[in-house]
Parts: sequence; structure tokens; C-alpha cells
Amino acid sequence: MREILRVQKLGKNLGSYHGETIDIHAVLRDVQTAALTHGWALEIFYEQGEFKWFALHRSSPVTCHPSRIYISAGIHGDEPAGPLAALRLLQENNWPTDAEIFFLPCLNPAGFTLNKRENADGIDLNRDYRNPQAAETRAHIAWLERQPKFDLYLCLHEDWESHGFYLYEQNPDNKISRAEKMIEAVKKVCPVDLSENIEGRAAKGGIVRPNISPSERPDWPEAFYLITQKSRQGYTLEAPSDFPLATRVNALVAAVNAAINF
Ligand SMILES: [Zn+2]
Repeated sequence: MREILRVQKLGKNLGSYHGETIDIHAVLRDVQTAALTHGWALEIFYEQGEFKWFALHRSSPVTCHPSRIYISAGIHGDEPAGPLAALRLLQENNWPTDAEIFFLPCLNPAGFTLNKRENADGIDLNRDYRNPQAAETRAHIAWLERQPKFDLYLCLHEDWESHGFYLYEQNPDNKISRAEKMIEAVKKVCPVDLSENIEGRAAKGGIVRPNISPSERPDWPEAFYLITQKSRQGYTLEAPSDFPLATRVNALVAAVNAAINF
């Protein structure tokens, strides 16, 4: 534990993310290889130039009434830990047998080749879900509309300003929270941001439970679309991008595993 707590911020990110970058084409090739090796179905739902957007689907092997879990990553092109965590999860192939998984490993591949948050046209896709302008957002929403409702959604992100891992919870029906269990799991591999205020919202123990009304917000992140249209419980996970990339990937993988094996 002492070793782990000694992980220090790198101090690299002045004004924006200046950490490691990834070859997104190589990562997504490895994602596809891992998914096909382990029997996932792959659907390409959008193509643009050299990039393909794809969704992975895994049925439950044991039940016809599975819990349905949606996981997405890579909507911000300067947050490499998400797609790398997706790759690790697919390679480890350690999924609950009673769950059906819908997995979108990278929602903004063009952003990764530019190492920037937005897509190639400068649109922040994670503010584009109310009145979508970007073709890839429209394609993603069209894909979502074809899917059943989800019992749980998880959106994988990073925050270059944070002092450790934290998460946002959306749980309007007060279902049993998975937040504390995720934080406990992450603590073993990555510092948690214990600030009482994160991104302008009250936080406690690395958990932000924002009081939001999507109807009052003009620019919807993906999570607002999910909580209003597709699910009644979900989490946005924020790995601290001023820490080593391996630490951030470990944090996201630990949080996802804690949430899905609940
Ligand atoms: Zn993000």
C-alpha cells in the first residue's frame, strides 16, 4: 500500500494534456483481435476516411434475462487510458456470466491521431448529444436507438487537472450504489481525489453525485443521453491523467471490474 500511495503527479499537464499518446490504429487492431478471439460480435456503425467506429457485443452464456451493461471509451482524443483499459478488459476476458455487454472501445478515433479532446472538426463530442452536429455522434445515437435499455452504463474518461481518480454517479431511482465499491478497488492501484469540490461540484471520497436536470443544460454529454434515454444508473469514471499512463489504465480496469462484478 505504501508503494502505491507514493505514486506522484507528473506535473506535465500545463493548460492541457501533455502526457503519453497512443497509436490508436494499433490499439484498435489489438482490440478487434482480442474481441474476435473471445467470441464478441463486432458491428461497424460508422466510417469516415481511415477510421471505423465499431461496437462489440457479448451475449450472456447462461441466462436469457441478463443484466445489460454498456461501456464506452475514447470520446476525448487526449484521454488514452480509456481505449487502453478497453483493450485490457477484452484481453483479460473476465466478464460476469449473467451479463450482456455492449462495448464501444473508441468513440473519437480521429481525436487520438491529433491528441486533442475534440474530433477532427473541433467538436467536443461529449457535448454533442442533445442536438448532435457531428456525424459520428448521430451514428452513435442511431446505434444506441437500436439497442435495448441498459441496467448500467460506464463511460471511461480522464481528467488532466485532477489529483487522483474520481467518478460521477447518476442514480435517480436510488438503486444500490456501486460507487464506493469502485473507489475501494481503485484505491489499491491509484490515488483517489479526496477534494471536497471537483470541477465545481461537491465531492466526497472521490464520488460526485451531481444534482442535474438535463433539460436545463443545452450541451449534453453522452452520460446525459444515456440517463435520459437508455439507463437509470451509470457512472462516468475519471482517471487522473497527470499520473503515469499505466496507473490510469489500472484505475479504470479496477473500477469497471468492481462495477460489473457487483
Ligand atoms: Zn473526457
